[in-house]
Amino acid sequence: NHGVGSWTARRARRTPHRLAVIHDGVRITYAELHDRTARLAHHLRHLGVRPGDRVAFLGPNHPSFLETFFAAGQLGAVFVPLNTRLAEPELRFCLADSGASVLVHTPDFEHFARSCTVPRPVAVGSGLDKDLAACTPVSPDVPVTHADTAIIMYTSGTTGRPKGAVLSHGNLIWNSLNTLVDGEFADGDVTLLSAPLFHTAALNMTCLPTLLKGGTLVLEETFSPARTLDLVERLLVTVMFGVPTMFQQISAQPRFADADLSSLRILLCGGAPVPQALIRTYQQRGLGFIQGYGMTETSPGVCLLDAEHALDKPGSAGLPHFFSDIRIVGHDGDASRGELLVEGPNVMSGYWNLPEETAAAFDDGWFRSGDVAHVDEDGYVTIVDRTKDMIISGGENIYPAEIENVLYEHPAVGDCAVIGVRDEKWGEVPRAVVVLAPGAVASAEDILASLDGRLARYKIPKSLVFTDALPRSGAGKLLKPHIRDNFGTPS
Ligand code: ATP
Ligand code: MG
Repeated sequence: NHGVGSWTARRARRTPHRLAVIHDGVRITYAELHDRTARLAHHLRHLGVRPGDRVAFLGPNHPSFLETFFAAGQLGAVFVPLNTRLAEPELRFCLADSGASVLVHTPDFEHFARSCTVPRPVAVGSGLDKDLAACTPVSPDVPVTHADTAIIMYTSGTTGRPKGAVLSHGNLIWNSLNTLVDGEFADGDVTLLSAPLFHTAALNMTCLPTLLKGGTLVLEETFSPARTLDLVERLLVTVMFGVPTMFQQISAQPRFADADLSSLRILLCGGAPVPQALIRTYQQRGLGFIQGYGMTETSPGVCLLDAEHALDKPGSAGLPHFFSDIRIVGHDGDASRGELLVEGPNVMSGYWNLPEETAAAFDDGWFRSGDVAHVDEDGYVTIVDRTKDMIISGGENIYPAEIENVLYEHPAVGDCAVIGVRDEKWGEVPRAVVVLAPGAVASAEDILASLDGRLARYKIPKSLVFTDALPRSGAGKLLKPHIRDNFGTPS
């Protein structure tokens, strides 16, 4: 077995007594992790799972998530992690779409699992433990190659319905290698993870590289900034992964200033650039950020910005990973700005069951990210916006994210989104949708006037509407299709 499923056996051979996972007071060594995953692989085989079959998992960050992932890998089966934040009809869509034959779930999802007819439910708990006790603690002998599919991972669904990215064992291995070469993971790291494992950054960028190096994962089911500081001190955490808002909440804790953070070495952040003010706050405590840019389809790492360049390349996503290449398809002869394309051993083979979307996503073997990027003279990449969100007004390309960044600086703006609305003269014009900061008072005219001189005239929104809240995904991303539906009617 050359796939990721073999990692538990390889680790158990090298570091059997080291802790692989700490979860809610339970400590699991690599030897135990291997024992449990091998037994689970046999159990799944008894239930009829064969190479290529899909095994879904529904639950929070829990050892059983990783056990199911590795057990499926040992069988040559395909792991399908489900997003616990989805509504039941969406979960049913992912189950039916993936064609999963088994659904492993934690007790929280008992009710949902029992309502499913097709995938056979396997509840994590004492019943399963009894079944596992009767299984062999040696991985089944199933040949698995790097080309075999390891996982179908659904995209976040920010721009539409989630799509299943088909990722091979090779994709995941090369992504881990990219992370280890360019990131600063070390032997025996203690990595704290409270972001959900069903998202690519947590599983593939944080968890797998940690386990590959024989580190210890501290799994948290929910994020609590106060508990995070306690855990860092108590377990001597060395690596922490999060999205920018999580780090914002941690540093807002009154205890942040004198918490003992001396064990921490790496703050790993992804999904959006870390604000400069936040970088400085952590720098005062001697800590730097490593920031990643990527997407589900690329396993996910495409670019990485090291801590050293976080302040002199503000807003940048860094340099392409060692084993990945990027290309910019510029507009209007500008080769430094345009859609970013990726090629490398971490790029998926395609979307599950979506041949047309797959064909449209590749350009001569290069994966089209759907993001507009800018590359500076040193090769540092900055993500400008998504191509789908771009507004074309009188022939000029307008990137809403650029306008949103300036709007955020107005003290009365708590949250905002910029969308395009149809316009007879210009084709499309930008419109701002604003949520006022708590207690703030400002008129649309005040806010728009503050943009004068800071943005080119054609980028200044022609209208501004207020709302109470903007729809955001679980990962905190603005759901632009919903916002366009609700606020995009020409006035
Ligand atoms: P969907 O593809 O279903 O619409 P999604 O693109 O949000 O959803 P993900 O694969 O989770 O799903 O997210 C990848 C996207 O997140 C990238 O294409 C990019 O737009 C954004 N992103 C990720 N990292 C960064 C970063 N460091 N800076 C800016 N944007 C980022
Ligand atoms: Mg996407």
